[in-house]
Amino acid sequence: MKSIETKAIVIGGGATGCGTLRDLTLRGIEAALVEQNDISSGTTGRNHGLLHSGARYAVKDLESARECIAENKILKKIARHCIEDTGGLFVTLPDDDPEYHNRLIEHCKYAGIECEELKLEEAFRIEPHLNPYILSALRVPDGTIDPFRLCSANILDSMERGGKVFTHTRVDAIIAEGGTAKGVRCIDEVSSEPFEIRGEIIINASGVWGQRVLSTAGINLTMLPSKGSMVIIDYRINNVVVNRCRVPSDGDIIVPGDTVSIIGTTSRTIDYSDIEKLTVDDDEIDVLISDGEKLIPNVAKARVLRAYCGVRPLVAVSGNVDGREISRGIVLIDHESRDGIKGLITIAGGKLMTYRLMAQWTTDLAVKKLGLSKKCSTFHTPLPGSEQKVKKPQIRQFTGMPNSIIGSTLYRHGNRVSSILSRQNRNFSLVCECEMVTVGEVEYALKKLNVKNIIDLRRRTRIGMGPCQGELCSYRAAGLFNELGAASPIEASQLLIDFLEERWKGIKPILWGDALREMEFTYWIYQGLFGLGDIAERSEDE
Ligand SMILES: Cc1cc2nc3c(=O)[nH]c(=O)nc-3n(C[C@H](O)[C@H](O)[C@H](O)COP(=O)(O)OP(=O)(O)OC[C@H]3O[C@@H](n4cnc5c(N)ncnc54)[C@H](O)[C@@H]3O)c2cc1C
Repeated sequence: MKSIETKAIVIGGGATGCGTLRDLTLRGIEAALVEQNDISSGTTGRNHGLLHSGARYAVKDLESARECIAENKILKKIARHCIEDTGGLFVTLPDDDPEYHNRLIEHCKYAGIECEELKLEEAFRIEPHLNPYILSALRVPDGTIDPFRLCSANILDSMERGGKVFTHTRVDAIIAEGGTAKGVRCIDEVSSEPFEIRGEIIINASGVWGQRVLSTAGINLTMLPSKGSMVIIDYRINNVVVNRCRVPSDGDIIVPGDTVSIIGTTSRTIDYSDIEKLTVDDDEIDVLISDGEKLIPNVAKARVLRAYCGVRPLVAVSGNVDGREISRGIVLIDHESRDGIKGLITIAGGKLMTYRLMAQWTTDLAVKKLGLSKKCSTFHTPLPGSEQKVKKPQIRQFTGMPNSIIGSTLYRHGNRVSSILSRQNRNFSLVCECEMVTVGEVEYALKKLNVKNIIDLRRRTRIGMGPCQGELCSYRAAGLFNELGAASPIEASQLLIDFLEERWKGIKPILWGDALREMEFTYWIYQGLFGLGDIAERSEDE
């Protein structure tokens, strides 16, 4: 069996794992990351992308609120191309307890979060489509963060510093010999080839799957999965993050992001055995839309684009277990002291927003175990693309290209825009009209950003995430996979089928009205015109 040697191994390519790989490589430690699917395909790619100010937690969980505001300030500097500094509002509706407004102001003060009381005219100037009957409004420094871009930038930086990344590769077992973790046994999910990676430190950053991963080393850690569902509206109905000013509950937040808005969320405890079989229930969609409408009445007139859900990776750290609970949200476990297995660390819990801090704590522990003394620098080292604010004169080199293309590419890739757009006409021909994705951007993603299929490409470029949900861009993307040498014609057809099946999962729960009409149209293009189902049958026969 093929065996690869490195110093540190990270299991899981969510924000926590990607951030940890980056921190390790920034400190000059040889490291590899193994992800069973694509980076940011777990809970990291299934949330609202809210860059919390901490206000949502201020009343109930001051420690989390303080962590959020500290990281909010850091991420706005180091990850600027992944963030929209929209600001946020907390609005009180006639049904809400008016006292919560004052409690929030007071607790934001304790947490160090700027919280400004607004006159109602000012709130409506910022967000004209708010419910006209709101009683009060507060402004906080919330924002939005794109989890896909964030993970991709962390991985890109790590790879440029020598880090190795194995996506679509599952860790089958942790290799533990004589009370020490020595590596991981892996399966390449594309070729089915088994191989192993040996290292001195193994970091389990596999989120809610952590319980299962640890069981392969005979360790018992209970995860309590809590499912949350969200719906996406087909255009940006709000400018800033709109929160309901009450104790956090279902359907009380609307987050604008890129070209759409997201209404969230629900919270339901599910059985651990169901973490792979997640579905959005009809009553969750009803709650989200009806409560969303209370915040912004236009929700009733908008088209719902898709619904999706994720699982909060909550860890049961009970009194009799020797796990080290560092904060109420973040759990860092040294399995040497807890379970007698040397060289194994688990990092779980927390939030997308605290990924950098979680990575810092994990790498600090790893560095200590390796007997090194290298310090963390992620709090001031910008991610690739966020090195500096791109100014208009720098964009002049692309004069001649439509502003919409330059703007969208810049928005997604920051300073790396110059590696993507060139003066060759072909480079800026459009693949996806909804999100303004060009041939140049697809080529860059295939060559530099670890893309193995069209679903991965969607996470790097937003292909298929806009209002048409991949109706007009996916076959062009499949063609480019073939043209750029990433897939044979039959493989590219299969990638297209997989992509459409994946999109279908999120559209199925909201299939009414315009979404149903659009889906019918898509079906006739791909089945009626292209005969894609026949290609699938033929490739099964071969
Ligand atoms: C509904 C909902 C809304 C949320 N909203 C927000 C928000 O707005 N803002 C915010 O800051 N936080 C939010 N969160 C929390 C946030 O999404 C998570 O805390 C964070 O994404 C967890 O990241 P992670 O890297 O720890 O886990 P994950 O993203 O789940 O990553 C774990 C990875 O490990 C991989 N893996 C598992 N098993 C194996 C194996 N055997 N081999 C290889 N790889 C493996 C998985 O495929 C996965 O990609 C939300 C959570 C939910 C559920």
